[in-house]
Amino acid sequence: MQKGNIRVQTENIFPIIKKFLYSEHDIFIRELVSNAVDATQKMKTLSSIGEAKGELGELKIEIKIDAEKKTVTISDRGIGMTGEEVDKYLNQVAFSGAEEFLDKYKGQNENNIIGHFGLGFYSSFMVSEKVEVITRSFKEDAVAVRWECDGSPEFTLEDTEKETRGTDIVMYLNEESQEFLEPHRIQTVLEKFCRFLPVPIFFEDKQINNPTPAWTKKPSELTTEDYQNFYKELYPFNEAPLFWIHLNVDYPFNLTGILYFPKIKQSYEIQKDKIQLYSNQVFVTDEVKEIVPEFLMLLQGVLDSPDIPLNVSRSYLQGDPNVRKINAHITKKVADKLEEIFKTDRTAFEEKWESLGLFVKYGMMTDDKFVEKANKFLILQDTEGKFFTLDEYKIATETLQKNKDGKQVILYTTDPVQQDAFIQQAVAKGYKVVKLETIIDNGFVNQMEMKWENVQFVRVDSDITDNLIDKQEGGESVLSKDDEAKLKELFGVKIPELNVTVEVKGLSVDAPPVVATRPEFMRRMKDMASMQGGMGAFYASMPDEVTLTVNGNHPLFKNILAETEKDKQEKQVHNLADLALLSQGLLKGNTLTNFINRSVDLMGAK
Ligand code: ADP
Ligand code: MG
Repeated sequence: MQKGNIRVQTENIFPIIKKFLYSEHDIFIRELVSNAVDATQKMKTLSSIGEAKGELGELKIEIKIDAEKKTVTISDRGIGMTGEEVDKYLNQVAFSGAEEFLDKYKGQNENNIIGHFGLGFYSSFMVSEKVEVITRSFKEDAVAVRWECDGSPEFTLEDTEKETRGTDIVMYLNEESQEFLEPHRIQTVLEKFCRFLPVPIFFEDKQINNPTPAWTKKPSELTTEDYQNFYKELYPFNEAPLFWIHLNVDYPFNLTGILYFPKIKQSYEIQKDKIQLYSNQVFVTDEVKEIVPEFLMLLQGVLDSPDIPLNVSRSYLQGDPNVRKINAHITKKVADKLEEIFKTDRTAFEEKWESLGLFVKYGMMTDDKFVEKANKFLILQDTEGKFFTLDEYKIATETLQKNKDGKQVILYTTDPVQQDAFIQQAVAKGYKVVKLETIIDNGFVNQMEMKWENVQFVRVDSDITDNLIDKQEGGESVLSKDDEAKLKELFGVKIPELNVTVEVKGLSVDAPPVVATRPEFMRRMKDMASMQGGMGAFYASMPDEVTLTVNGNHPLFKNILAETEKDKQEKQVHNLADLALLSQGLLKGNTLTNFINRSVDLMGAK
């Protein structure tokens, strides 16, 4: 038997390993199973090129718990190690790796570290008071050896008996890690990290992994059903996805994966962190913020890349050239796929727009590269149900909706039910009103006015219909200046919750007598403010700005101005104002009750 000391700089490296990674000690399973997978894959390769003779046997990895001995054992049928190799790989190579790793990260907050690849074999000491390695190399006439180390730099190495080729790693769990004797605990960790490892893994005599997940296959080998089944495997409780993108790149970086577009409802709480990141089928993380463009975090599925540096901090990842390339590649693929569906099956594209629209708009708001592409397939649906691309909308509204500055005015509604009266009038004039009803549309409108040239968004109720497209001043009213002034005074109704401005204009005779509008600019400011906290909340609580436009040409006003009963005249005017507010949904509570009572009075009871 050989006794020795692991050559260490830091005498107390084991306590550091234990303490340092305490918060994530699950990963010892990932590390040791990954090693078993590596050894198994090497065995396959050696056998296939004729370097290893003899039977391959059943290449599987087994995890076993011995509650009595308080051990967890991981066994493989891989290449194994000779005594010399144990000395080289475990006492020297693996150890220097662990040391280097600790040197690098000692100062850092442990939560910042992902994928602690590099710590490898020595992560077993996070949970063990003693680790035993029993291994027999594939090499002919190799003698099995047993290595043992109790978490001090001392180790022992001796010859032993072992029937089969491969390695058993036996961990004698320490006091704090007895939880891993609980099968359920191990099962959970295995499901998280080892679910798609490429070698069959057995725990409690049941295979826990799918060694050939869909993303590792060629797209040509997969049917629609295969993709849908894989989605179900990942997200058993979700509705079927809309479509998917199979990524398969090997130059200039390695990236495979399948990204799914889930079905999203308008009211749906946007969920991120649904994409899982793997490295050669080993689960790394489901927080992919730095690797996937922000707007694509709405997607789901799997990315697998050995080229994403995993043992570095998050902030470093963002600057990594491979990560940036991967980012750009994914964005391009997604845009291409959307364009392809748009071009080949526009009906299907339109049917899915309710969900797709969110990705596309979010993408256009946050990523200028994406805008260039998305301009071709962004669609806007008008109140009659017809879809337009930006170019199609421009053509359809070419003359009617161009304002005096030459800008194309996109008329929109955020609530077709509530803004119905305005929509009807706009449509009657031949305008096309598009629906922008989702939570992100506010921001979208603001952003796209900046990104698109010569386009202006105007909400359909932001002004009287005649003035929506800013072409010229409104017409003259038939009333005298005196009468106009009188009307203005009469309409100066006080409504505490609203900030009302009154104007008298000469609209057409068949236009309504009074129209209440909410000026675009002020309304947008308020909408934006309500999405922020602090001062934003204060502005958001300010009264709504409303403009009452009195149509001086409406025949009603001749009678109202001639009315001699002061009280009746005031009531009539007040009612007209309230009717206009009612059509904007601005009449509530007390003011609504007053309106109802006044209407009854006006019907002539008195
Ligand atoms: P890494 O896997 O990054 O090389 P580890 O610390 O995980 O680092 O492992 C160190 C070395 O020990 C491996 O490179 C391998 O040579 C050897 N080794 C570890 N586990 C096994 C195993 N189950 N079978 C064969 N060799 C192993
Ligand atoms: Mg390893």
